[in-house]
Amino acid sequence: MGLDMDYKFKVVSIHPVSKCDWNCKCCYVKDLPDKKPLEWFLQIPKKIKDLKLAEQCCMGGGECFLFQDFLKAFGRECKKNNIIFNVTTNGKAVAKMADDELKEIVKDMTMVSVSFDRFKIRCKGDVIVFEQAISKLKKAGVLVGINLLVDKFMFGEGMPNGSEKNFSLPNDTQTVSKKAEALEIPPTLFNASGAQENIKVMKRAGFFKFVASLMKRYNPDRIFILYPKGFELGVDILKFRADYYALSALFPKKIFVDDLTGKILMEQKYSGWILPCHYGKVLSIFEDGSIAGCSFEKGVKADLENLPEFEERRQCPFLKICMPEK
Ligand code: SF4
Ligand code: SF4
Repeated sequence: MGLDMDYKFKVVSIHPVSKCDWNCKCCYVKDLPDKKPLEWFLQIPKKIKDLKLAEQCCMGGGECFLFQDFLKAFGRECKKNNIIFNVTTNGKAVAKMADDELKEIVKDMTMVSVSFDRFKIRCKGDVIVFEQAISKLKKAGVLVGINLLVDKFMFGEGMPNGSEKNFSLPNDTQTVSKKAEALEIPPTLFNASGAQENIKVMKRAGFFKFVASLMKRYNPDRIFILYPKGFELGVDILKFRADYYALSALFPKKIFVDDLTGKILMEQKYSGWILPCHYGKVLSIFEDGSIAGCSFEKGVKADLENLPEFEERRQCPFLKICMPEK
C-alpha cells in the first residue's frame, strides 16, 4: 500500500446497511431513519484517499453480502484509490452463493471475517452455515478471518485454573506449542446438537482450547477476539490474560483483539487507563451518513471535510462487565 503513513485515523469503519438475514437476540444495529442511498457511500473511498483519512476501510452491517452489486462497486472504488477493504459478514448469504459469483464479489476485498458468537451459532445447522461460509471464502481467494465474540456464558465458568494458565509468556513459543499439543485439541468441537449443548461444549473446552481449536480446525488468516459492548455479557478477562498471551505466542500474527480487550489486558484494569483508547481514532460512518469516533457511539451529522474534535477516553462507556459470582 501507499508510502504516506500520515493518516488521521487507524481505520474508517462503514455501516451502510442495517438490513440483515439473521435475527440475533443481542443485535446492536439500529434501523436509522433518513438512510442515505447506497450510491452515496461510493464516494467515500476517494474521500478517504484525498483527505488522508486512513489506509484501510472496513465494512459491517447489517449484512453487506445481501447487497452484492454495491459491494462490488465499493470494492472497485477502494482498489482505484489504493485502500485496503475488509468486510464482516454473518456468513448466511455467503454460504448460499455460487462459487463464481462469490469470487467476483470478493475480487477487490482484502479480508472477509465471519462472525462467531453464541447468538449466531445456536445449533448444528448454524455450524454448517459457518463452515460453508469459511470454506467458500477460502476457495474464492480472499483472506478469511473469524470474529469471535467472547461472553460470560461461553467461557465464564470454564476458563480459569486450567493447565492453559501456566505458559511461559510471551516469547517462549516452543514451550507453548508443546503444551498445546499436550492439550489434545479435539478436531470436532462443534458436534453439539443445540444451543445449550454448544454452551456446555465451549465451557468444557475453556477459552484457550476453544480458540486454539477454531484455529486448528478452520485455519483462518486471523481470529479477532472481541469483547461484548453495550450488553451485560462481559466476563472478567483479566483472569485469562495468560491465555490471550499464550494464544498470540502459539499463533503469531493471527490472534487479534479489539481495542477494549487490548486496553484491559495491557493496563490490567477496566478503566482509568494511562493511555486513551481508540475512541476518535476509528472513524465510523453510519447508514444515515452520520459519523462517530467508534462504531458503538451514536453518530452526529458532520462532513468528512469538517470533522469534529473527538475527546480522549480512558474508560469505555459501553463496557458492561459482569464479575463472576464468588
Ligand atoms: S448478524 Fe449482526 S446485524 Fe444481523 S442480526 Fe445478528 S448482530 Fe444484528
Ligand atoms: S469507547 Fe469503548 S468501544 Fe469505543 S474505542 Fe473506546 S474502548 Fe472501544
